[in-house]
Amino acid sequence: MSEENTMFTAEKGSLSINSENLFPIIKKWLYSDKDIFIRELVSNAVDAIQKHRRLVSLSEASASDEEYRVDITLDKDAKTITISDNGIGMTAEEVKKYINQIAFSGASEFLEKYKDQSEDPIIGHFGLGFYSAFMVSELVEIETLSYLPEAEAVHWSCDGTSTFEMAPGTRPSRGTDIILHVNEDGESFLEKYEMQDIAYKYCSFMAIPVYLQDKADLTAQDESVIDADEVSPEDQETGDAEAEEKKPQPINDPTPLYLKAAKDCTDEEYKEFYRKVFHDFKEPLFWIHLNMDYPYNLKGILFFPKLGNEFESAEGQVKLYCSQVFVADNVKEIIPEFLLLLKGVVDCPDIPLNVSRSYLQNDAQVKRISEYITRKVADKLTSLFTTDRENYEKYWEDIHPFIKYGCLRNDKFYDRVKDALIFKSLTRDKYITLKDYLEAAVETHEGKIFYADDARQQAQYLSMLKDQNFDALELPSTIDVPFISFLESKEPSPKFLRVDSDLSEFLGDNTETISEEDAKQAETLFRFLLDKEQLKVSLRSMKDASVSALMELSEEDRRMQEMMKMYGAMGLGGMDMNTESTLVLNKKNDLVSYILAHGDEDKARTLAQEIYDLARLAHAPFTAQELTAFLSRSQQLLKGLI
Ligand code: ADP
Repeated sequence: MSEENTMFTAEKGSLSINSENLFPIIKKWLYSDKDIFIRELVSNAVDAIQKHRRLVSLSEASASDEEYRVDITLDKDAKTITISDNGIGMTAEEVKKYINQIAFSGASEFLEKYKDQSEDPIIGHFGLGFYSAFMVSELVEIETLSYLPEAEAVHWSCDGTSTFEMAPGTRPSRGTDIILHVNEDGESFLEKYEMQDIAYKYCSFMAIPVYLQDKADLTAQDESVIDADEVSPEDQETGDAEAEEKKPQPINDPTPLYLKAAKDCTDEEYKEFYRKVFHDFKEPLFWIHLNMDYPYNLKGILFFPKLGNEFESAEGQVKLYCSQVFVADNVKEIIPEFLLLLKGVVDCPDIPLNVSRSYLQNDAQVKRISEYITRKVADKLTSLFTTDRENYEKYWEDIHPFIKYGCLRNDKFYDRVKDALIFKSLTRDKYITLKDYLEAAVETHEGKIFYADDARQQAQYLSMLKDQNFDALELPSTIDVPFISFLESKEPSPKFLRVDSDLSEFLGDNTETISEEDAKQAETLFRFLLDKEQLKVSLRSMKDASVSALMELSEEDRRMQEMMKMYGAMGLGGMDMNTESTLVLNKKNDLVSYILAHGDEDKARTLAQEIYDLARLAHAPFTAQELTAFLSRSQQLLKGLI
């Protein structure tokens, strides 16, 4: 090709605007996400192909049978990464306009905006996508041929300083190659497994098939093709089948499930999608297909994962995409924080993701999207509650932390799901709502809810409640502690009382009053017998005469202690939980009567110690020392029987 026939002559130019300091700044700014160049370059390639497809559909470009595809090729020997597409390509004029000028103005706008700031990380790009290549390259080349008839191939190169070179190129077919000659920072990306992870992260749903290949593998394959000439026809046949199997597969799924209408997706497809995207071998419990066209566009699927064992972190992962291009994980401006415990993908093509996080925080549309997602989740839960209660109860064990956390974080969410909150009833052995509980309690303990956080430890108290036909709820999780307080702050403001708190008002025999004098006497005696001067002792008459004594801790005191413990204040005074509890003696019990009648005898002392230990045993675990004392005393007492 003679120079006169070309549309342009080789030229050298200068990327004038501040480019001396532009590259270092780009590097610094995007440093934490160096791998993002893959997203930028591959999405440019995908765009170029989609533009071509559109032109073909408008009959403005001629169609071809060739598969549209993007290739990422690694060449360790040459130290290059090449991103190739068969999209529209660029003419020399377009390279000048889009690469030399526009991309640079994007870059300089970026520079202008961020030069004085030291934070505010970028999500997405700033029209400087192409230049992210320089984060990992010492030299970048473009080989491109425009789809336009008569177009001529163009070669462009720039070594990251202020000059570029343009000359006639060599690309024989429509499309573009971006060739990165990696620098030290980029060398790790030449490793296939490293690149596979990155390409998977950013490109997994890009709309055009993306292939990753290592030049070394390609060369090896070529050699095996030559060998194939020498094999017998039978071997050839099996070889063909294998070859078909070995046919390279794209690393991405260009038509991800979330783009389909929910009615066209099967359960198996959802599960398969979940497995592939989150590498979670446990099936999700259920999912919500988000699909909205108006007033903004949003598609996605949120999965409620099955919780793993306690050693696994409960952290979810919601991946945000913008038109099938990965943006970031767990963007809390868009996905309400409490839903970050879920796993899922959300694609918002309309929101301006090429801006900073602080912009997102203040954007009304972003807020509406977040509200929409919250509402969809709440609707799904309430609909499961009403239409599929059996499964809802099965899921509850796994989903209740999300829901409770969601209620604590978001009032609107609470309002939507409040009637679908369920609790395990310990006496009825099934799930009920707070409303169910309170209705049953109207006669006996209106507005009060008894609960156990450790049904085994608190079994004695529970059986006393059960004897009197009182129900108790099981609230065993860490999240239940703040959740109880939260529910108490809401209408109809129920009061939660743990079964070992001061319930004698309900369990006591209120027909019998106890004089202050008797009570005082009992306290003095037991303090003396137990050698505990500070012990709080109270004497009551309980309906169940077989119970000798109970330990009680007022609900308020206990919660205060729990809070102090949570804030680490306990260590300071070395406060002992049990010292604050009250020993409640049952006046109706024979053993108690005996002790009260026999005062300071040895036998009374042993009995007092034993019933004190029994009461504590049902209240909180013993220390080793306490347990040893208890066991040896019990042995002694048993000996007395023979
Ligand atoms: P943005 O993608 O945000 O426009 P870039 O710096 O990534 O910014 O790219 C600048 C422009 O260069 C693109 O808008 C496009 O016109 C052109 N371009 C980049 N890569 C390609 C490609 N592979 N094929 C065709 N045109 C491209």
